[in-house]
Amino acid sequence: MIAQAFEYTAPKTLDEALGLLAEGAKPLSGGMSLIPMMKLRLAAPEHLVDLARIKDLNYIREAGGFLHIGTTVTHYEVESSALVRGKCPLLAETASHIGDVQVRNMGTIGGSVAHADPSADYPAAMQALEAKFVLKGASSERTVSAADFFVDMFTTALEPGEIVREVIVPVDNSASSYQKCYQPASGFAIVGIAARLAKAAGKLADVRIGVTGLSNRAYRATAAEKALEGKAGSAEEIRAAAALVAQGVEANADIHASADYRKHLASVYAARAVEAALARV
Ligand SMILES: Cc1cc2nc3c(=O)[nH]c(=O)nc-3n(C[C@H](O)[C@H](O)[C@H](O)COP(=O)(O)OP(=O)(O)OC[C@H]3O[C@@H](n4cnc5c(N)ncnc54)[C@H](O)[C@@H]3O)c2cc1C
Repeated sequence: MIAQAFEYTAPKTLDEALGLLAEGAKPLSGGMSLIPMMKLRLAAPEHLVDLARIKDLNYIREAGGFLHIGTTVTHYEVESSALVRGKCPLLAETASHIGDVQVRNMGTIGGSVAHADPSADYPAAMQALEAKFVLKGASSERTVSAADFFVDMFTTALEPGEIVREVIVPVDNSASSYQKCYQPASGFAIVGIAARLAKAAGKLADVRIGVTGLSNRAYRATAAEKALEGKAGSAEEIRAAAALVAQGVEANADIHASADYRKHLASVYAARAVEAALARV
């Protein structure tokens, strides 16, 4: 189908973009989710503001123990950045699992988190990394944690007129892994698990597990994390903790997987992610 007619502006400065967004225009980044939605008439914005030509939004920098990633940085740039691979390998690994080469070359980190697709990959890593998002409006700027940002299916803490300006993740010395059960046609996650952990005096510490695909919003599996803290990390301990990954969560069901099957997959992939992270300690 063909999208409804719309106005298109490609500003060169952030101020100009934010001014137009304050008047009700909609941001366009990679267009990998928005354009298909417009073609299907699931979205019909009257005015699109393309963020792609604003140079100030495209950077990856290290400062103060964190990586600061501009919103228009593509999945491919995250995946292939020596800085991200070296300083936050979980994020680079997660980016490498998104869609296909074409999608990774067009889709952006800011567009992906703002879209908040319940099957998107980044949100699992953002939860495990305790990422923060800088949200910018025409006359405001605030920083929101991943825990507060992902509110519900396709719903975030963004207010009208705001954009995700920057993603902040820690320089991460822990061992980590992202494991994903692919939906074979689209590549989206039926479930995806991001795990990071450290080992001190032979015991697991600082375990963080982010889950996507299972429910309306990505979340941290705190019961499973607690079950692993202080343990040696035997196969039995990992299996028992992974069984808690869907505890208290209402799982989604669709043509690809029933709720019970998704929960089962989540425990299987959680065990795989923790084992893979442990192998990298
Ligand atoms: C064939 C295909 C396969 C895919 N497979 C996967 C997959 O396996 N895993 C996965 O995670 N994703 C997958 N995707 C989605 C892809 O990662 C998209 O890039 C991503 O979801 C949206 O990013 P975008 O930059 O294209 O945003 P757009 O499509 O441009 O925008 C998406 C939404 O976010 C808003 N928006 C965009 N940028 C901002 C911003 N900076 N601040 C605030 N709001 C903003 C837009 O207004 C729109 O509502 C796939 C997409 C396709 C087409």
